[in-house]
Amino acid sequence: MRYISTGQVSLPTSLKEAVLSGIPDDGGLYLPETIPQLDKHFIQSLESLSLQEIALGISAAFLADDIPVTQLQEIVTRSMNFDVKLKKLDDQLSVLETFHGPTMAFKDFGARFMAQLMSFLIRGEDRELTILVATSGDTGSAVASGFLGIPGIRVIILYPEGKVSPSQEKQLTTQGQNITALEVAGNFDDCQRQVKRAFADSELRQVHRLSSANSINFARLLPQSFYYAYIAGKLMSKKGDLVVSVPSGNFGNLTAGLMAKRMGIPLDHFIASTNRNDVFPKFLQSGEFFPRPSDQTLSNAMDVGDPSNLARIRYLFKDDIQAIRTEISSWSFDDEQTREKIAVIFERFNYIIDPHTSVGFLGLNQYLETAKKEVEGVVISTAHPAKFPESVEPIIGESIPVPPQLAQYLEREKQATHMSIDYEDFRQFLTDTLG
Ligand SMILES: *Cc1c(COP(=O)(O)O)cnc(C)c1O
Repeated sequence: MRYISTGQVSLPTSLKEAVLSGIPDDGGLYLPETIPQLDKHFIQSLESLSLQEIALGISAAFLADDIPVTQLQEIVTRSMNFDVKLKKLDDQLSVLETFHGPTMAFKDFGARFMAQLMSFLIRGEDRELTILVATSGDTGSAVASGFLGIPGIRVIILYPEGKVSPSQEKQLTTQGQNITALEVAGNFDDCQRQVKRAFADSELRQVHRLSSANSINFARLLPQSFYYAYIAGKLMSKKGDLVVSVPSGNFGNLTAGLMAKRMGIPLDHFIASTNRNDVFPKFLQSGEFFPRPSDQTLSNAMDVGDPSNLARIRYLFKDDIQAIRTEISSWSFDDEQTREKIAVIFERFNYIIDPHTSVGFLGLNQYLETAKKEVEGVVISTAHPAKFPESVEPIIGESIPVPPQLAQYLEREKQATHMSIDYEDFRQFLTDTLG
């Protein structure tokens, strides 16, 4: 299988190039040349398959030309080594918990699979691969945990000093081994600027092999489609339309759902639920896209004013806004509504949700109010509420027990190197560290 750029200027390329370079030269995003149709029998048997079996079936459909199935099995076994759970709250309403991985957010799916895939793609090469990641929190933790201990790959994480939560900082800075954390005296944009300059530094790149692990890498998209197939399997005997609400920021999660539908998985409709950063719902209304600087909200992993995966969505729909509207509905909600929904869901179902998931519930609710057909609704829960105790606990009036995955980080000692926002300091650090 070859990978094309949504920019439509760069030539199609190999899986290895698409995954290790991450982004095409023309500024577009990689997508597979065609989206394979899954076997009918595979789809009919989804109900009885485990997440790992689903992951292997989908991976093979995309990657079997490039990677032998026995190796794919290994990639899947090592990366998808945690649960996904579908909880039915009432007749019309289920929630898919994608947060049972090591960092308790759905980003574990993408980061773990990408780490194992990259590890396979560089086998037999003697040059070490260095992954540079700028993070405002969650991406860095998932990447750090996913790449931990992978031979031949070193990860350097840049995070803004004082601007990540205490528990996020522990997850970023206590891994050790091949993971190094840099505490940058600046904001997230400063971190990102350092990474971009390093990638543009041809002298540096002659000596060191650099790669990125951000959310636009195709290797992070594919594994997110696994749980959409899992949903469809579990709700196979549903009565009405299967409608999935996705708390969205950069729209990678939603794009994976759209891809799953194109593979032949029976999903009827998607809801792109956003916080006050409402460029997507505005785009659906007007047909025109205006990116803007992001606003800070309670659901901060969704504070995105220029969602990169919009390029993929437009490409998949050949930029036909009417077609996009048929498959996706979208609404925006503010922090007040987000808080209120956390309270309502706790009261009604004795179920605790985090602020991102709450935006997802709000979106589904809005859809149900106007739906003319029978609907089986699913909200994708993207993070465990224990990751956001400072926002959730005052609302529900209870403390949230800290799950063992998070507790183990809290006990460890932070290890981070201070870094100024001067590029020369960063460059010197890379040269010294990478040897
Ligand atoms: C990253 C993230 C999102 C947004 O996902 P996208 O794929 O960028 O739309 C939502 N919720 C949580 C908890 C996240 O970490």
